[in-house]
Amino acid sequence: MGMNRRDFLRTAAAGSGALLASGVSPAFASMPKELPTGAVGILYDATLCIGCKSCMVNCKKYNSEPGGALYLQGRTASYEVKPGAPFWDSAEDLSSRTVNVIKVNKSGTGLNKDSTDNGFSFIKQHCLHCITPACASVCPVGALKKNPVNGVVHYIENRCIGCRYCMMACPFNIPKYEYESATPQVRKCQLCYHRYDEGKYSACCEFCPTGASIFGKVLDLRKEASRRLTLKPGDEYDFPVQTVDSKQKSRRKVSKYIEHVYGLKEAGGTQYLLLAGVPFEWLGFNRNIKDQFLPDLTWAYIAKIPAVIAGVILAGTATWAVTRKRNKDKEG
Ligand code: SF4
Ligand code: SF4
Ligand code: SF4
Repeated sequence: MGMNRRDFLRTAAAGSGALLASGVSPAFASMPKELPTGAVGILYDATLCIGCKSCMVNCKKYNSEPGGALYLQGRTASYEVKPGAPFWDSAEDLSSRTVNVIKVNKSGTGLNKDSTDNGFSFIKQHCLHCITPACASVCPVGALKKNPVNGVVHYIENRCIGCRYCMMACPFNIPKYEYESATPQVRKCQLCYHRYDEGKYSACCEFCPTGASIFGKVLDLRKEASRRLTLKPGDEYDFPVQTVDSKQKSRRKVSKYIEHVYGLKEAGGTQYLLLAGVPFEWLGFNRNIKDQFLPDLTWAYIAKIPAVIAGVILAGTATWAVTRKRNKDKEG
């Protein structure tokens, strides 16, 4: 649906009944439940990751271009420099300026790679591009959309009304809001879909030197992930670099994997898949997320109490309006 911010405010003012009638639930009704035929995604293998953060740097660089997930007119790149610190991007978590983050977890001496015993592991966090995205299912104005062909969950900024309901619905705590901006937007990874027309793909994979992040068709990524789980630790394997079908390989000894491909089933399945040598819960990933499509659960509950969702959206809209006015006043 094509409601913009002004239309929405008009509808909202007419009351929650009109609001609900105007389309709070149709997005849920039209959510896909199958992987799109041309679905693309990323496989991240934590055992290959060296924590170089090249993926983070290039994510910011290429997503600061027009069409990118971090684009803002007049801003060259979304670096996060701490006050008083030398000029060095120091993002520690996802934020409105960081849509991809490499984190490390360690225990004890932290000397053993891919071990919870006096060891450490890296992990890469960004939008998982759910097969049935809860964020898009709850957006009342269709500002988050799942592409029916490649499955990318992308954002249409001029539709967003700032209700932030997507942030509450996402089971992985991914979308972030630009509270600091006079024209705030929701920011999250869009799988670099703005580069596809040029024959390019996700920058994080293009610039990953080890093959820890590879881009490709989700069906091929699933096969590659399953194959890795059958390999014997210590054997040599030609890991593809940049893309799953790349001719460029990195011959490495296979590490011991946890017998789980994260994203294969969680929340009904996602287009970002992960392998690791340590349990995912140790890396901050919730293993208790149900395998069921989450919008089913969300809406089974919400549909019974329409006044709640209407209230949340109206409150969000009011907050947006107040914040915007305050910012305008500040600007003089
Ligand atoms: S991970 Fe969250 S933001 Fe990304 S598609 Fe799934 S529900 Fe939406
Ligand atoms: S796919 Fe693009 S936007 Fe997403 S994490 Fe990688 S570089 Fe960033
Ligand atoms: S570029 Fe690759 S190896 Fe470097 S931190 Fe990112 S995923 Fe890990």
